[in-house]
Amino acid sequence: MSTTTLPRLVLSLGVDDNGPSDNGRASASCPHCGAPGRYIHRALAEDGSIVAAMSGCIKLFPKSKAFDATARTLERVKERTDKGWKQTSWDLAILDTIGDFRNGQIEFDVYEAMVLHQARSRAAYYQNKRRNR
Ligand SMILES: [Zn+2]
Repeated sequence: MSTTTLPRLVLSLGVDDNGPSDNGRASASCPHCGAPGRYIHRALAEDGSIVAAMSGCIKLFPKSKAFDATARTLERVKERTDKGWKQTSWDLAILDTIGDFRNGQIEFDVYEAMVLHQARSRAAYYQNKRRNR
């Protein structure tokens, strides 16, 4: 399939781990191509459709900068939840922005700008922390 026909992904909706199977084979199949896979990524595309595909296939889709930022945020939030840690203010702000965008309260451009602003604030904070140690 040509990558030029794939819709641009604007928001990560998370990754489903379908777990290892007993027989050592992949436990799920990719909704995109049907190949066996374990981790299925879900994402909202620019055209409003929901895309689901395994790790190898999700790489083929063009993505907005906000997509990568939201994917990393969801990974961090899950990790902190698993550890019983409080979420950071940046990640909470990004979750709020995701909600507003999905509810149609803000346009894509605003959503992307707000997500990237929080991601940059977070990066700047940790850079400063390293520098001042
Ligand atoms: Zn696939």
